[in-house]
Amino acid sequence: MESNELNLIELAQHFSDEDKAREFMEKLRWPDGPVCPKCGEVNNAYRLEPKPSKKNTHVRKGVWKCAGCREQFTVTVGTIFEDSHIPLNKWLLAYHLLCASKKGMSAHQLHRMLKVTYRSAWFMAHRIRYTMSQEPLSSKLNGIIEIDEAYIGGKRRVPQAGAVTPGKRAQDRLSPFAGKAPVVSVLQRGGRVQSIHMPKVTAENLRSVVTQMVHEDAHVMTDSSCVLAGALPTHKHDSVNHAAKEYVRYEDGVCITTNTIEGYFSILKRGINGVYHHVGKQHLHRYLSEFDFRYNARKVNDGERTLQAL
Ligand SMILES: [Zn+2]
Repeated sequence: MESNELNLIELAQHFSDEDKAREFMEKLRWPDGPVCPKCGEVNNAYRLEPKPSKKNTHVRKGVWKCAGCREQFTVTVGTIFEDSHIPLNKWLLAYHLLCASKKGMSAHQLHRMLKVTYRSAWFMAHRIRYTMSQEPLSSKLNGIIEIDEAYIGGKRRVPQAGAVTPGKRAQDRLSPFAGKAPVVSVLQRGGRVQSIHMPKVTAENLRSVVTQMVHEDAHVMTDSSCVLAGALPTHKHDSVNHAAKEYVRYEDGVCITTNTIEGYFSILKRGINGVYHHVGKQHLHRYLSEFDFRYNARKVNDGERTLQAL
């Protein structure tokens, strides 16, 4: 199947029922024929057809039997769909919806669109996000690396008990970041991004992230308010001074800016504040995986992105 056919209408037709969705998964997962999960033999299995006339109802649909080791299996073995009571076609649609919408999709919307319970929709969205979390990078980011931090979370509505009226004395003012979750993103210009929920953004924590993720030849760019400024002896490092309204400057033909990472943060913030409204801190890393995944797959169309996720 051509992935560029994979728009929502096509999907809705392909996945109108569970059988079609299963066929699709079989083609996708087993392009060379069924693979036995036990002995690994390829294309040496046969279908077990349910025979309702013999009251042989314990055979589920889509079951294969390996001719080598006699193991029975289905295409969902070892996937997040295994043992789910939610029909496979709804799973695939949910995948597509989450992959295709730039700012994500709330469980409420999935619940309405897929006609599953809200609990199921929430569960599905989290499982899908889990599969989007990236494997540890096989190679470090290199080239021009932009690093910045953002504070994710809603506005404070109710003053905390005992809080002094804000503004009376400078030291009593609530930090604008109070109650928000710091997120640090590392972005290779023209390449990938990876975001981390970092409960405490300190120079030490940031340095260890840079050491793990960024190649030593890379050129790191931050803004001057970043705690990394002046604290990164291991890498070439430049910063733009936002306080002085400097956003872009050129040095030896190299564009020094953090505009790319800030563009990414604006999608992330609009997505989390607009679509998800409230994200518990314990789940934040899942949402970050989702947004990173979509960004890293930004150059492919919605259909291919869905296939990648699957
Ligand atoms: Zn086998």
